[in-house]
Amino acid sequence: MADKQCDALVIGAGPGGYVSAIRLGQLKQKTILVEKAWIGGTCLHVGCIPSKALITAAKFHEKLKHASDFGINVQGVSIDFPKMVHWERDIIEKFTGGIKQLLKGNSVETVMGVARFISPNEVEVTNGNSTITIAAKNIVIATGSVPSGIPPFPFDGERIISSTEALVLPEIPKRLLVIGGGYIGLEMGIMYAHLGSKVTVVEMMDQLLPGFDAELVRTLARSLRQKGIECHVNAKAKTFSGTVGNLNVTVEVEGSDRIFETDRVLVTVGRKPNTAGLDIEKAGLKTDARGFVPVNNKCQTSVSGIYAIGDVVGNPMLAHKASKEGEIVAEIIAGHNRVVDYLAMPAVIFTDPEIATVGLSESEAKEKGYNAGIGKFPFGASARALTQGATDGYMKVIFDRDSKQVLGFHIIGPDASDLIGEATLAIEMGSTVEDISLTVHPHPTLTETVMEAAKAALGEAIHIVNR
Ligand code: FAD
Repeated sequence: MADKQCDALVIGAGPGGYVSAIRLGQLKQKTILVEKAWIGGTCLHVGCIPSKALITAAKFHEKLKHASDFGINVQGVSIDFPKMVHWERDIIEKFTGGIKQLLKGNSVETVMGVARFISPNEVEVTNGNSTITIAAKNIVIATGSVPSGIPPFPFDGERIISSTEALVLPEIPKRLLVIGGGYIGLEMGIMYAHLGSKVTVVEMMDQLLPGFDAELVRTLARSLRQKGIECHVNAKAKTFSGTVGNLNVTVEVEGSDRIFETDRVLVTVGRKPNTAGLDIEKAGLKTDARGFVPVNNKCQTSVSGIYAIGDVVGNPMLAHKASKEGEIVAEIIAGHNRVVDYLAMPAVIFTDPEIATVGLSESEAKEKGYNAGIGKFPFGASARALTQGATDGYMKVIFDRDSKQVLGFHIIGPDASDLIGEATLAIEMGSTVEDISLTVHPHPTLTETVMEAAKAALGEAIHIVNR
């Protein structure tokens, strides 16, 4: 007989697991949440939240450099980096406390320790010298992901760092070489450039942000150049030598070797699913060739009563995707008929300017057989963007010319991360560009650009000449 029993056992307290546990609690399921390290997971401790805290502080510093554009003279600006990191860690502590309260308030029992399967419905949890067993009618695997490395650049936490160490460095590196021009590498590269580092990004593929709309990437690349960030595509990092502050990295750029001197190397080549030590085979489960736990559109694994959610089941590796899957699984366990629908799944990159997308790109829409058209509105024509001194970028809607249905939104520009909310709702609701165009948007706000892009799709934009 197991030491504890419950209706639902959730393994991993990231945004997938803790949200699922809260929803299970709301649905009156006796729930236990097991976590080995961090309540809040990667997202809260070494991901979304600390990175966005530092990105915000760094952007503030960058803005101060341009304060005179607004008629404000600022002198003697300096950075107390340890204090900035302390502020970042303080936010994490506050939010962790909030989640703990929410778990308690929804009658979820939290058990700290490392979980591993001993059978399809029983898990052993070890914390130091103590071990307990928990039997559950349903088990949700929400063990997330960990940074991937590349063999010639093994992480040592000093010379070769991952995003985890980049969030708590003791000092701002004078020079930083970023291997991997995906979203984490670019967010962190821009952040350190805003703090004064000389940043170089090397990306093996032929464009930064591989897989993203080429027009968005071109606009971002221009802004990176203006910030003095050196970017190389078709560039394969091969070896390194030296110590912190004095590293030489050999990179094959467009076929020829080049040496880059740097203080530290940040490797951001992706993340891999985390099932290490979970003994999932004892539950009768197997991962796929890339290490993900295969699931159907109800997040059910091949074993009845075992579900998996979040980064451990596959892309997109995003916190809100993990949370949505967590809620759906909780409702399925409670007897509701639910499936996960990824149609309106936004993705945001907190670069400068920000990028946000949802739904289909123009080429995807054409491939799917839509008579796809676009409506585009530049932030340079937005009064609110002008008042913020942030006019780079555009708002683009992709729509079906026949039905006028909104199929996607691609944004690069100020507050894209917030503007994508309305775009996501439009897709979720099956809205047409006419619906958005007819909706009164407050003036002067950046939300008017959503409306103007929809109007542009109809040839009716007011603040640009329609073509
Ligand atoms: P995780 O958050 O990884 O949580 C898994 C939890 O399981 C961890 O707490 C781990 O300790 C625990 N665990 C693992 N194994 C066991 C075990 N055997 N027993 C007990 N516990 C276990 N996403 C966004 O949407 N927006 C962003 O802006 C964003 N920024 C990011 C920035 C960075 C630098 C990084 C690294 C990631 C970022 N992400 C962002 C991605 C986001 O953090 C992940 O998609 C999200 O955390 C996945 O949630 P999850 O619940 O699946 O897993």
